[in-house]
Amino acid sequence: MRKHQGSNRRLKAGLVAAAGAAMIAVPAPAPAVAAPTALAAACDEAQIPAAILLNKTIPLVSDECDLRGKVVRAGVIGAAVPQKGEVVTAHALYVEGVKTGPDMPDSVSVRVDKGAVTVEVRHEGSVARGDGQPSGVSPGRSSGTKNNGSAQATAATPECSQNAYSLMGRYNGYHKWYFKSDTVPAYFGGANLAETDILSASYNIDVGMNDCGLTQTMGTDFEYAGYTLDYPDITSTPACDGARSNKNEVAFGPIDNTNILAVTCGWSYSWPGDDPIQEADILFANRPNQFFYFLPSGCNQRYELQGVATHEFGHAFGLDHVSESSYPALTMSTNATSCSYRDSSLGLGDYNGLRAIYGS
Ligand SMILES: [Zn+2]
Repeated sequence: MRKHQGSNRRLKAGLVAAAGAAMIAVPAPAPAVAAPTALAAACDEAQIPAAILLNKTIPLVSDECDLRGKVVRAGVIGAAVPQKGEVVTAHALYVEGVKTGPDMPDSVSVRVDKGAVTVEVRHEGSVARGDGQPSGVSPGRSSGTKNNGSAQATAATPECSQNAYSLMGRYNGYHKWYFKSDTVPAYFGGANLAETDILSASYNIDVGMNDCGLTQTMGTDFEYAGYTLDYPDITSTPACDGARSNKNEVAFGPIDNTNILAVTCGWSYSWPGDDPIQEADILFANRPNQFFYFLPSGCNQRYELQGVATHEFGHAFGLDHVSESSYPALTMSTNATSCSYRDSSLGLGDYNGLRAIYGS
């Protein structure tokens, strides 16, 4: 033991001497003085503005910035740089009447693939598919039998004629989710009522609940696993956390921006052509009187919890937003509908989006 320590000391002393000799022999050149880049300047802060990362591929770790653990912020929402090989997306659902835009994006995605970071920010559901398909039933799909009698009567409603969807990816395997029931605000009338609404919402997505006469079955797999003590991996700012629990958590909690009703953070593997979703956490704003179970009389700017939760579970199963101005009747539009039960049932585009992922 002592002999080894002795030889280590001698070895280290030799290396120091050698290094010293090398420094004397070859002085290091003076570093070139360059103005710090926008990224280098922003890197001192915990949050990096998304604008300086857009349309670029930036090394995860470089002389400019070590992006690991940094939150990429696009206006009022953000997402922490995820683990290597993953992509995280923060989706914000806005109150009725506010216009989304650069400072109020409807989603921000941060991807780490092959040691490089890319960022995407979407406004107003900027990507949509499904337009131009016949309303009522997608080509090749059978019409519903359960509500066949009413299919014709309801097909003309905006909800059953607006046909657009945007897809994130497929939920990877069995979606098992947990509810942090001790976060339900007192005004709501009880954790059991909130649980009922949220459970119904997950069911709405699972079966493709609709009032358009479309067959109510999907190829989704999910299970409500009950109460948890674990909080979603979503901060109040709001932003998706860098470290995720690998558990699908749903809760109420603080969301700083009062125009945001709820946030879903989805973490996926970054795979070519498809990003299979690994985890989706949902946070509902816990500010007073934001949500209702029963539509209250004199309702003003309050939202059915089940409708908002249906939208959020849509994200968990891979649906992205569509434009509020073009498709206001769809559940996946960027703004919720106040004082209404409408968002609880899927519109044509919402339904066809799920069909495109899970349908057979
Ligand atoms: Zn959303």
